[in-house]
Amino acid sequence: MQRKHCIIVLVCILCIAVLLCFLLWPNKSASSASPSLRKAAEGLNDYQVTMKLDPVQNTLSVSEEIHFTNRTGQTLSSIQLRLWPNAYERQETSPAAIDELFDACYFNGFNPGYVKLHDVKWNGETAAHSFTDDASTTLSVSVPELADGEAGTLFIRCVVQLGNCAHRTGYMNNTFMLGQVMPTLSVFENGAWRQDAYSSIGDPFYTECANYTLMLYAPEGYTPACSLPLVQEKSGAWTGSGLAMRDLGLCISADFETASASLNGIRILSYAEDQKSAAQAAQYAKKALSTYQALYGAYPYPTFTVCCAPFAPGAMEYTAMAVIDDGYFAKDQWDTLELFIAHEAAHQWFYAMVGSDQVNNPWQDEALCEYALLRYVEKNYGQSAYENLRFFRVDSPMQERIPGGLTPGSPIDYFSTLADYKSIVYGRGAALLISLDTFLPGGVDAFLEHYAQEYAFRIASRTDFENALNAWAGQDLLPLVRDYLDTKMME
Ligand SMILES: [Zn+2]
Repeated sequence: MQRKHCIIVLVCILCIAVLLCFLLWPNKSASSASPSLRKAAEGLNDYQVTMKLDPVQNTLSVSEEIHFTNRTGQTLSSIQLRLWPNAYERQETSPAAIDELFDACYFNGFNPGYVKLHDVKWNGETAAHSFTDDASTTLSVSVPELADGEAGTLFIRCVVQLGNCAHRTGYMNNTFMLGQVMPTLSVFENGAWRQDAYSSIGDPFYTECANYTLMLYAPEGYTPACSLPLVQEKSGAWTGSGLAMRDLGLCISADFETASASLNGIRILSYAEDQKSAAQAAQYAKKALSTYQALYGAYPYPTFTVCCAPFAPGAMEYTAMAVIDDGYFAKDQWDTLELFIAHEAAHQWFYAMVGSDQVNNPWQDEALCEYALLRYVEKNYGQSAYENLRFFRVDSPMQERIPGGLTPGSPIDYFSTLADYKSIVYGRGAALLISLDTFLPGGVDAFLEHYAQEYAFRIASRTDFENALNAWAGQDLLPLVRDYLDTKMME
C-alpha cells in the first residue's frame, strides 16, 4: 500500500509538472496563434528580451538577442538600431519638451532619461559601435560582411534610466511607461538605414514586423500591462511571446486594477487605477474591435490590452495595445475615453497590421483611423452622432485658418504645433476618405478591408495605397487624392 501511494503521488507530481510546463512555456501564445499569424511570422527577425524593473532607481535593465537575417538585397557591413530613450536626455532633443507638452509631461521639472550601454556583440564577439545622430538614438553596429540572406545574432545589454516624465518612456508616481524602451532595428530602405529624429509631433516610428519573446521581472506588488500575452511564472516574473508584431508595448505599475472581456477568442485586458474604469475601458475596446472586425477583417492577435497611464499627449498605439492618459479614466471623461480607445483600436489595422511610413506619410495611418472612428460612431450610435463628430473632427478643421504650406500629405517635420498636426493630418486627412466613399464599389470600407488584407504584416507606401485604390475603383482617383493630400489651402 505504501509503495502504491508513493507511485500515485509521483504520478500526480509528474502530471502537475507537465501541466505547469504547458502553462508556463514562453511560446504558449505563439503556438496557439492563428494560422495566418504563424504564416506571417515565418522568416521574420526575432527578439528575445529580458527586462528587469528597479522602481527604486527608476531603471529598466534590458538584455536582448536579435536573430537578424539580412533581407536588404545587398551586403551589409553594419546594422543600425534605434535607442529611443536617449532622446530624453536633454531638453533640446526630448520629444516631451515641446511647449505644448512640457508642463504636463515634466510635472516636476525636466528630468533626464537615457541608456547606459554595456555590451554589444555580434555572433558572440564584441562589436564596434557608435551613435550616428546628435540625440544618440541611432546606434550603428559594425558586423563582418553579411551577404543578402545571411543571418546572425546581435546581443545588447543596457540599462535604461527612466526620466520623471509622463510620456512614452518614463515614469510618474508608481507607473512606468516603457514604450519604445528596447533597442529596435531600424528599417533599411533605398540603400540606407532610416535615421529619423524622435520628433515631438506625430509618432516617428517606422518598423518592420518581428517575433518577440519576453522574460520580465518586477518587484512584488507591480503588475505589467503588455502587448504580449503574459503568463506569470512566479511572484515578480512573467514570460510572454508574440508573432508578427510591429513593436512591443509595456507599462508596469503598482497601482493597476484589472478587468477583462472576450470577443470571439480574443482576450481583452484592461488596466487602470480603479476596477470600474478598467471594466468600462475593456467594454469600449470590445465594442471597437467588434466594429472593426466587421468592417476591416479579422483582428489577428490573441489579446488586446488597454492601459491607463500618465501620458500627457493623450493616447498611443502599440501592436495589440493602447495606452491612454489617466485623466480620461475619470468617470466624467468616459465619452472621450471611448473615442480614444476607438481611434487607437483602429490602429491595429492601420499601423500594426498594415505598416506605413509614419514620418513621411503620417496621414496613411492617422487619417484612416480617424475615418474608422467616424464609422465606429455611426455604426454604434447612429447617423446624428456621426454628423456631430464629423462636424467637430473633420468639417471644422477644413474651415480652420492654418499656416500656409501645410497639407495632410506633409511629413511630420513640417509641423510646428500638435494642434496644426491634428487638424490637418487627422481632420483634413479623414476628409479624403469621406470623399472617396462615393467613388468606390462597396464604399471606402470595402476598399480599406481589401487594403488591410493585401498589405497585412507588411509596409504599404503611399504609392501602394494609391495603386490599390485605383485598381479597386477601376478608375484614376489620383487627382482626388492629390487634391486632398497635397493642395495648399489659401489663408
Ligand atoms: Zn492615431
